[in-house]
Amino acid sequence: MNIKNYINGIHKNPVNNEWIDNYCPANGEVYGQIPNSSKADVENAYRAAKSAFSGWSQTTLEERSRVLIKISELLEANLERFAEAESKDNGKPISLAKAVDIPRAASNFRFFGHAITQFASESHESTGQNAINYTLRHPIGVVGCISPWNLPLYLFTWKIAPAIAAGNCVVAKPSEVTPMTAYLLGEICNKAGLPKGVLNIIHGLGKTTGQAIIKHPDIKAISFTGGTETGARIAKIAAPMFKKLSLELGGKNPNIIFADCDYDDMLNTTVRSSFANQGQICLCGSRIFVEKSIYKKFKIDFIEKVKQLHVGHPSESDINIGALVSKSHLKKVLQYINIAKEENGTVLCGGSKVNVEGYEKGYYLEPTVIEVPTDECRINQEEVFGPVVTIMPFSSEKEVLHMANKVKYGLSATLWTNNLKRTMRISNQLQAGIVWVNTWMLRDLRTPFGGVKASGIGREGGFESLRFFTEAKNVCIKY
Ligand code: NAD
Repeated sequence: MNIKNYINGIHKNPVNNEWIDNYCPANGEVYGQIPNSSKADVENAYRAAKSAFSGWSQTTLEERSRVLIKISELLEANLERFAEAESKDNGKPISLAKAVDIPRAASNFRFFGHAITQFASESHESTGQNAINYTLRHPIGVVGCISPWNLPLYLFTWKIAPAIAAGNCVVAKPSEVTPMTAYLLGEICNKAGLPKGVLNIIHGLGKTTGQAIIKHPDIKAISFTGGTETGARIAKIAAPMFKKLSLELGGKNPNIIFADCDYDDMLNTTVRSSFANQGQICLCGSRIFVEKSIYKKFKIDFIEKVKQLHVGHPSESDINIGALVSKSHLKKVLQYINIAKEENGTVLCGGSKVNVEGYEKGYYLEPTVIEVPTDECRINQEEVFGPVVTIMPFSSEKEVLHMANKVKYGLSATLWTNNLKRTMRISNQLQAGIVWVNTWMLRDLRTPFGGVKASGIGREGGFESLRFFTEAKNVCIKY
């Protein structure tokens, strides 16, 4: 099946007629092609967006809200079709796509459809100076949204929904590794009555299509989610052009477990926070630190549970872990397992490729737990982004906090304890944009989402997203 670009409400082939193979991770076979769009396609998308802007930016909030909520309803009505497409394209269990990815993509549209009706200008009365200030928040114009492969439609719509809710028009690029649901979204937008050109979806490689979006002089804001190195490359181009930039990048998140936690809840959640989506969630807790007094018990119980996880074809209903997203990614993750062994890590379970009967060319890997002698090793410092976690004991709060913060990343952290004062102390000192205490991945879409250090700049979520996708203008009137 050939995927096409979606420009001005119409599906089109790329101008240069260049195509890239699209692989199914579950069987390693090519099952379609996608455009490798050039500067010319991005220019066409930009022009469509620009001509739609004057109309869209003037629509009433009620009308924008109505269209966004309609998109949300149509996604829900097409849940099965979208979940199947997401699973086939990404390798994730279809059950996960049905329960999380597609419902969340629908929620993104519904949430921002509501949020825009509550987003208001501020005013400040300058007491004693006989003046009043009011702050307008105007849409920026044409904005660029670029997203990764791990939660394809979920993260794509997390950017697009607030961008269009705020009155912008968009040139968006999904990952070339998982383009399918973004392609299907075009059709839904047309059915929902989104005016032509408000959203344009362009497919292709980062170094061609992605770069053309970043370098376009009139695409004034870029919202990017992806790897830290790519983020740095994008910032280097966008900064001298004074583009507004939001970068959601990599992570190496600590999962800190104290002996006084609710043990069973912690254990079940830790299995999920380690291996959900094959460990390919930027928020997964890949460094597990366990208080010494319960370390031995945790090690036995955790390994037993991880060994019960069933790896298999993503369409099977009884599997927990599907395929990794690509051959090259599987190779990278396996290399990290070898590096860990070379650095004296002990593989407690997993560590090898899995041959799923009938799908021998698929990219399957056992969930892997590695005991590390020190936090300094590469497997504890570098992002692996696969079904691999490390475990090690700690003796004191001070020691674990030091290790938790001693990485270049700062996206999220998870803390398991029932001690209130300790919760407050550690949460205050963790270098992360998001801290979960006695839970993981509990998301309230109104809260700020993003990271510190090499995990990025800026925050998404709720009004933060709407602020990013608008320019503030203060008007001061003296009376
Ligand atoms: P990636 O950086 O390789 O690609 C992300 C997107 O950027 C893709 O659409 C890609 O085509 C595009 N791209 C690549 N090079 C580009 C360039 N030079 N110019 C413009 N666009 C370019 O990342 P990935 O491998 O798709 O995703 C995995 C990474 O994403 C991991 O590091 C993960 O932690 C991160 N991630 C972060 C978050 C978050 O919210 N912080 C969420 C999910 C994933």
